[in-house]
Amino acid sequence: MPTQDLKDNAARYLMQTYTRQPISIVRGRGAKVYDMEGREYLDFVGGIAVNLLGHGHPDLVQAIQQQAAQLIHVSNLYYTEPQVTLAKILVEHSFADRAFFCNSGAEANEAAIKLARRYAHMKYGESRFEIITMKNSFHGRTLAMITATGQDKVQKGFEPLMPGFSYAPFNDMAAIEAMAGERTAGIMLEPVQGEGGVHVAGREYLTRLREFCTTHDILLIFDEVQTGMGRTGTLFAYEQLGVAPDIMTLAKGLGGGVPIGACLAKESVASAFSAGAHASTFGGNPLACAAAVAVCGALLEGHVLDRVKPMGDYLANALTECKARHHVVRDIRGIGLLQGMELDIDAKTVVAEALSRGVLINAAGERVLRFVPPLVITTQEIDQLIDTLDAIFTR
Ligand SMILES: *Cc1c(COP(=O)(O)O)cnc(C)c1O
Repeated sequence: MPTQDLKDNAARYLMQTYTRQPISIVRGRGAKVYDMEGREYLDFVGGIAVNLLGHGHPDLVQAIQQQAAQLIHVSNLYYTEPQVTLAKILVEHSFADRAFFCNSGAEANEAAIKLARRYAHMKYGESRFEIITMKNSFHGRTLAMITATGQDKVQKGFEPLMPGFSYAPFNDMAAIEAMAGERTAGIMLEPVQGEGGVHVAGREYLTRLREFCTTHDILLIFDEVQTGMGRTGTLFAYEQLGVAPDIMTLAKGLGGGVPIGACLAKESVASAFSAGAHASTFGGNPLACAAAVAVCGALLEGHVLDRVKPMGDYLANALTECKARHHVVRDIRGIGLLQGMELDIDAKTVVAEALSRGVLINAAGERVLRFVPPLVITTQEIDQLIDTLDAIFTR
């Protein structure tokens, strides 16, 4: 279908929930994608921090092809090997003892909140159900998760919201101490706020938060949907921030592009989920889990993870040098291959300019450019991004 017909049909048949860039992408290789007219784009969006191995990675393609031919889905009424294998890998490489699988980040966070409430109810009674989340956070688009998300723009028009959520300013321990009490079941946050504009949680803040949660038996929940699976240079961001949560959620990069989410927890918490307490029809199906096992293999045994710290440093340095050359750039922040550039100007116009110059980038908020490329990105490709930004800011 020619691009114009595609746009016309999209306008006619799809619910108009997205503002899309005016191109239609048909294939990809590594950190490059190609549109219908054959134009090449350097991909610094990576499907919004999803395509960890880039496009068309042979290990991932082969794992999906083989599993699709063998068995795609049977439900959780039966055992399937890829699900158990994936759980074992995630548990062996994290603080957690058990995993539950679902299909998205929002669902993973739903599982986390349900688990926290259940744990608190069983131990302290039903009045303990409140969850503190952060202002400017992002946790997904289900009704409970727009409530958890501390941003008016995702909540507006969908009221009434879920009871039991309140919002603390990010990186503010005094606010937590003032808000938390007998009714608090959990505190949920992103170690690095992604959608909210790339803000990193401070080490000291996290250390005090961990101590506070332990003292009061409040569950500390890390939403690592965006920061997990190597994005920041360690398999999970918490590893380099010095504290472990009680519950952690994953999605985005976990399946390398195949939809899958996970909620991980310590045994003392996970045991609050008994048989029948939570479920998902597609959750942990063999196809998605085989893809995630292949992603883990490439990260850990294929050494993709080892590239993230050096490439993240290279990107951060290059962006910082770019900032020194251009007044419109206010700030560079992030960890590993999750970097943000705050501007004095509207980020959307820069996104559009970059697209016309063959580079895909994405805005997180009105004034922040977010760079979340595939973890297989090269220094030459980072140089190409910087050349493009230089050209745009010079104009
Ligand atoms: C993207 C994201 C989500 C939501 O994930 P979906 O798969 O879109 O439901 C939740 N939390 C964080 C931190 C995210 O970045």
